[in-house]
Amino acid sequence: MARQIKSPDFEKNNFKIPYFSILGGLFIVILFSILWRPLNLDRTVYVPLTPQVETTVTDNIHFSATDDESVEIVNGKPAVVTESSDIPEDEITKDELDDIVDDKDNSVQYTIVRGDTLHDILLRYNVNRNDIYQLTTKFKQLANLRIGQQISWTTDENHNLQTFNWTISSNNIRIYEKLDGNFIESSEIAEVVPQNVVIKGDIKSSFVADARKSGLTSNEIAIITRALQWRLDFRRLQVGDKFSVVLTREMRGKSLSNSQLLGVRVKNGTKDYYAILADDGKYYDINSNSLSQSFFRYPLAKKARVSSGFNPRRLHPVTGQIAPHNGVDFAVSRGTPVLSVGNGEVVIAKYSGSAGNYIAIRHGRQYMTTYMHLDKILVKPGQQVKQGDKIGLSGNTGRSTGPHLHFELHINNKPVNPLTASLPISEGLTGKSKKAFLSKVKSISSQLEF
Ligand SMILES: [Zn+2]
Repeated sequence: MARQIKSPDFEKNNFKIPYFSILGGLFIVILFSILWRPLNLDRTVYVPLTPQVETTVTDNIHFSATDDESVEIVNGKPAVVTESSDIPEDEITKDELDDIVDDKDNSVQYTIVRGDTLHDILLRYNVNRNDIYQLTTKFKQLANLRIGQQISWTTDENHNLQTFNWTISSNNIRIYEKLDGNFIESSEIAEVVPQNVVIKGDIKSSFVADARKSGLTSNEIAIITRALQWRLDFRRLQVGDKFSVVLTREMRGKSLSNSQLLGVRVKNGTKDYYAILADDGKYYDINSNSLSQSFFRYPLAKKARVSSGFNPRRLHPVTGQIAPHNGVDFAVSRGTPVLSVGNGEVVIAKYSGSAGNYIAIRHGRQYMTTYMHLDKILVKPGQQVKQGDKIGLSGNTGRSTGPHLHFELHINNKPVNPLTASLPISEGLTGKSKKAFLSKVKSISSQLEF
């Protein structure tokens, strides 16, 4: 039984020297690998543009399922380009909800939530880094964004920032416009009249069509589907289902300048789904449980070296043309288990051109992840997966010159850096904020009666 523990002691005395020399050797290897990593990053073709990104790549990678702190070092060589292309042949099919969530004209409206910084928000939406830098360093007042405030911005097709609006209060808006490459600040003091509206509707054809008919704008429909994205698939709503919504609309003259969703209730069959806005700018159900879902930072059980980082401006090594690297390459040996970073539905699982064996998973309405160059695919299209499920084995298929995993994260159908993007955290409310929230629920849910 437990006697076994004694026997290694006996052996240890006899083999003292090799034991310590192995330990010493290991120490040197570890020391070498620690010193090697930053060096390694500098040598790659894809040098992160800001130091912040670099520290994130090496330090922030954490994985909550297994607490394995080991670092995988592949051959100890500097990073090499392992991919000549990562474009799948198969496009992820979109539906009418995507059209609404997509901001085709590249304008985004965003409500500040706890922990946000302007730099992170704009980075998450893939705004040109130089523009972010220029805006945030020139106008220090932009560090004073408050929870619940609205910001909005427009970009051109190359992600360059064109205009940025900051709604400080309903009648005080700061506007930042780019003129001749520089941002100019102006402010707009306008009479804005907030209106509380309650909108109700029945499903007769589809949620989007019936919501539009009831008077909701595309932007408002997008906010509603986002708020409930982890609880309800709006495509599954059927004739006879109902919805009701409480909004604050800010009217500037006759035009609607801004909407805030205070609460929504959707009846699907016999089930009721609620999303109510709390003081922290996030939505919770009527029992104050979080409506968001957590994600793993990356789809592997162990840390792995990044052989090529996210880079929307990557120059193709051969053609010299801009060929964005829309994901992160992890140097992992063939056969390494690949895990789904969150709950979701498999939308693509097949061999697809230069992407090789390719999986795409949709998580809620706003998030999509893709996994490329796999050796084996272990899931089927249409399959529901849970966070941490083994979906495939990494490999070297498609246009890839060495075993690695190419991983992408898309938010609102735009690729973002999965190592730095701020991901939703699922935490319910507690204490005082829960109390305040529950009293709010009472007054809002009474307006959501059918
Ligand atoms: Zn890649």
